[in-house]
Amino acid sequence: MEAIDVDVVVIGGGPVGTVALAQLAGAGLTAIGFEQETDMWPTARAVHFDGETMRALQRLGVAEQFQEITVPMRSVEIINETGEVLVHANTERLGSQGWMDHISFHQPDIERLLREVVKNSDGVELRSGQRVVDVREVDGAVVVRTVGVDGQEHETTARWVIAADGARSETRARLGITGSKFGEDAQWLVVDGHLIDAPGYSADMVQLGTFKRPALWLRLPGTRVRMEFMLMPGDDPEEIVSSEAIERLSRGVLPADKFSADRRAIYTFRGRIADRWRDGRIFLAGDAAHTAPPLFGQGLCAGMRDIENLVWKMSLVHRGRADESLLDTYESERKAHATYWVETAANQAVIIQTTDPEVAAQRDEFIKAHPESSAEPSSPSLGPGLHDGEHDERAGRLGIQPILADGVRLDDIVRRKFLVATTRNLFESLPKELSNALERDGDVVVLLDPAKTSQLLEAAGAAAVVHRPDHYVLGVADSATDLERILRSIPTLADAVAPAH
Ligand SMILES: Cc1cc2nc3c(=O)[nH]c(=O)nc-3n(C[C@H](O)[C@H](O)[C@H](O)COP(=O)(O)OP(=O)(O)OC[C@H]3O[C@@H](n4cnc5c(N)ncnc54)[C@H](O)[C@@H]3O)c2cc1C
Repeated sequence: MEAIDVDVVVIGGGPVGTVALAQLAGAGLTAIGFEQETDMWPTARAVHFDGETMRALQRLGVAEQFQEITVPMRSVEIINETGEVLVHANTERLGSQGWMDHISFHQPDIERLLREVVKNSDGVELRSGQRVVDVREVDGAVVVRTVGVDGQEHETTARWVIAADGARSETRARLGITGSKFGEDAQWLVVDGHLIDAPGYSADMVQLGTFKRPALWLRLPGTRVRMEFMLMPGDDPEEIVSSEAIERLSRGVLPADKFSADRRAIYTFRGRIADRWRDGRIFLAGDAAHTAPPLFGQGLCAGMRDIENLVWKMSLVHRGRADESLLDTYESERKAHATYWVETAANQAVIIQTTDPEVAAQRDEFIKAHPESSAEPSSPSLGPGLHDGEHDERAGRLGIQPILADGVRLDDIVRRKFLVATTRNLFESLPKELSNALERDGDVVVLLDPAKTSQLLEAAGAAAVVHRPDHYVLGVADSATDLERILRSIPTLADAVAPAH
């Protein structure tokens, strides 16, 4: 094997690449990130996070700091051409993840925070102004060639590469990985800015199912607002970004004398999933692996999930506590999960963003008769991998994070470990060598105190539940036999105890 400079090279210093560096540092791996730009991308794309994403920020120790510069998304509406409200949903709630279910923010704020975490972490660094021009596997390692803004070339050798180089990923192209398309591509004008002394829409997020020009409204922290407008045939790209056009397109909601835009950009919204997410030692993550029309605000959330899924596996393999084959479950688990969101967003776009008046009228009638059809989608299960989903549909799903009576969030106790929550009786009925191995294992936390376990067991609907380090449910059990079977699938216990029988 080549001499290794770092455990992981991360390509791309966008939000996913930066969070990868931060999470790798927390897991004790060394890493270098290469970002071709010299400065952080100044303008926002993502504006919404869910509770699961906040939990990833909690792991990095910045969730509370970040929360201060966010606002809860309190309500969501779908309205039609005539301004009739088809659906109104209250979305302000403390959810199962121990954080608000929906929050709004300004993307540069979170990127700045993540870069601070990387700067203050040992063993990782982000090098800006360094463009990756070649990535090749050589003799059990990956050699990454970069060119700096000064023209200097450099090679870095790593055990693994995380390619978080965005929707146009050159790494993906270099590896010959093609993608599957979902829905229709559409061009949208995205306008960000401050609205002062004007009310805007009353709901915090409004999907405007206006067939003459589908649009979206979002209220962000402070005086910030975002509107997005679908481009229609015949639009003049120069005129459409003018203040007068924005006032006209927003139907006067963003009047030119009350709204100051700090960004007007045209994006192509597209649904894509890379056909392969792994090529040997190279893993695609974030927009390099998946892009979705931003209807449910899940693109970056999905990228953060990629990193949550991958880093604990890399950490176990790196420390010799799991076989390298554990890394195969990254693609099998995450691709299915991300595909669900891309497909759901692409389908919703077809319905809400129709430009056909007849289809829009039928849609309106359907939504009014079946309001439940517009309920927010619930988080899907992981694809096949390291969990008991084949036997029990409660496994492979995101587990809850209880807030304990003293206000402590449970992840702050469990940290980056497997969590076994059960009753003392069930735990004591396990074979002695297994319960001893569990108690000795530095990668497992066993909780038997009902003050800590009751919410977990109630949510699981079982006498035992095991969470993985990324908070997904490894398995649930009511009997010692089932619990033993699930526990023996924890990779770190594989050698510690003889298999049953
Ligand atoms: C209008 C809009 C609204 C959105 N709203 C939401 C939302 O509300 N919630 C949500 O979760 N998501 C949302 N998204 C999606 C979200 O913005 C993206 O998923 C996220 O920004 C992707 O992050 P990334 O780090 O994967 O990619 P990027 O942010 O694209 O970063 C990739 C980085 O890699 C660098 N790079 C590329 N090639 C190289 C190379 N060869 N060498 C070195 N560096 C390289 C690039 O310069 C770039 O900095 C939205 C997207 C859009 C367009």
